[in-house]
Formats: sequence, C-alpha cells, structure tokens
Amino acid sequence: MGTLDGLPPLRDVINRHGLDARKALGQNFLLDLNLTQKIVRTAGSLEGVTVFEVGPGPGGLTRAILSLGAKKVIAVERDSRCLPALAEISDFYPGRLEVIEGDALKTDFAALAPEGPVKIIANLPYNVGTQLLINWLLPHQWPPFWESLTLMFQKEVGQRIVAREDDNHYGRLGVLCGWRTDARMAFDVPPQAFTPPPKVTSSVVHLVPNQNPLPCDVKKLEKVTEAAFGQRRKMLRQSLKPLGGEVLLARAEIDPTRRAETLSVHEFVALANLL
Ligand code: SAM
Repeated sequence: MGTLDGLPPLRDVINRHGLDARKALGQNFLLDLNLTQKIVRTAGSLEGVTVFEVGPGPGGLTRAILSLGAKKVIAVERDSRCLPALAEISDFYPGRLEVIEGDALKTDFAALAPEGPVKIIANLPYNVGTQLLINWLLPHQWPPFWESLTLMFQKEVGQRIVAREDDNHYGRLGVLCGWRTDARMAFDVPPQAFTPPPKVTSSVVHLVPNQNPLPCDVKKLEKVTEAAFGQRRKMLRQSLKPLGGEVLLARAEIDPTRRAETLSVHEFVALANLL
C-alpha cells in the first residue's frame, strides 16, 4: 500500500509498535497524511528551516514536515514507546530528524535552537498545550528564537488565543497573544480526524511574533489582566481596586465603569505600564 511519502501507513506503524493511545498523555493521533500536510503548509515555506515539534507520537505530522522540505526536525516526545517508530522515520530521512525523549514543559527550546530560522509545529497534548504556548510567549528577549508557531488546540482554546476585545472568548490569553503576536485561526479539525477521536473540535492556530510589541513588563501585564478578568463581569473600578482602581484608570484615561472584556490590548498595556 503506497503512502504519500513512501513510508508505511501510520495505522500499520501504530499496530506494529503497539502504540495504543494513552489518555493521560493527551494522545489523539492524526493518521491522514493529507491533513498533516495541510497543517504543515499553514507554517509557510520550510526551506532551510529547523522545525521544533512537540509530541511527535507515531510521527504523522513529523513525516509531513520532513516531506515538505524542512531542513531538520527536532522533536520532543515523552512516551518512550514511540521512539522505535520515530527511529524508522529518522532512517528514511538520514540526519534530518532528532528525537529528544523528555517532557516538553521542562525543555529549554531556546537553548536547543540552532543558527538559522526556526518554526514550531505541533499537534499538542491538550493537557499541556496552553502552558507550552505561554512559555514560548513570555521570554524577556523579543523577537523570540522562533519565526512562527503553528499549533493544534481544542477549538475553545484556539478561540481564546485569537480573541480580542468585545469577544466572549477574550481574556488573559488573548491579551498576551495580542500583545506579542499576530495570531490567526487557520482551520478547524473535526474529532473524527483523530485516533481515538477527542470529545471536541480542534483548531489549528498560527502565530507570528510582533517585531516591535509595545514596551511592557510582562509580570505587570499579567497582574492587571488577572485582576481584571478574575472578575470579568464587574466594572474595572471594582476589579482593579487592589491595583489602584479609579486613580489608575483615571491616569490611563479609561472609563472606570467599563468591563475587562471591552479593553483593547493597547489599553491593558497602558494600565500595566502605570503600575
Ligand atoms: N503528533 C502526533 C500526531 O499528530 O498524531 C501525536 C499528537 S498527540 C495529540 C500528543 C503527543 O504528545 C503524544 O505523542 C504524547 O505522548 C506527547 N506528549 C504528551 N505530553 C508530553 C510532554 N509533556 N512532553 C512531550 N510530549 C508529550
């Protein structure tokens, strides 16, 4: 049976290596190489690019990244059961796939970054996806080591990433992403596309760093968004009381009767800079 890339079908790989999906590891595998290629194309040209992948699993997305021309893939996988399957891909693409066995949350990606452009592409384990995104967005040094992030999330998380003011999904994550990146929703992926299917629809989100985000101390920005969205139904004069309330809002020239959801990213940055 032929496949797009000449390697065996993923279902065979999974059976041969006994890779029954484990829920605790957020394992929902993509077996359709047309779909994995569509995800990878969202990241744009991979010529000369090193791609970091989190959670390659049996390697469906990894294969698409390699077949679409990435110079190299550095993949971090926690489940040692997947390593023999990934070794087969590595043999097929000599010198182009490096697999690191470990926890992506404890991995210093910036330190692993080689010279030249880096893009991050991943079908993330849902239990750690948001934290990984935040880790990639927080570093003091900006622009960061990566040129883009192309990531699969539960749709609801994707909506929070791209949400801006006056949107029900707007919150702390939207402010952080809006401050440091240009984030867009690429497309939805239905549960049936995964093995096993998750309960909810997923979305691929694409983020590119803002080259010159407004200067702001990220800790202060977190402080103000945490207070404001912690009580999102309340007026800001109430929710921001512990941070100076009406006085702070007056200095930022923001109407104290507004609610968190109505403030633009710019306005949150202005408040943070006045703390
Ligand atoms: N990329 C594969 C695909 O698209 O079919 C698998 C995606 S699956 C949603 C998530 C993968 O992340 C699994 O292979 C799982 O073992 C791995 N994983 C879970 N937690 C991890 C962690 N903390 N660090 C690295 N990998 C992790």
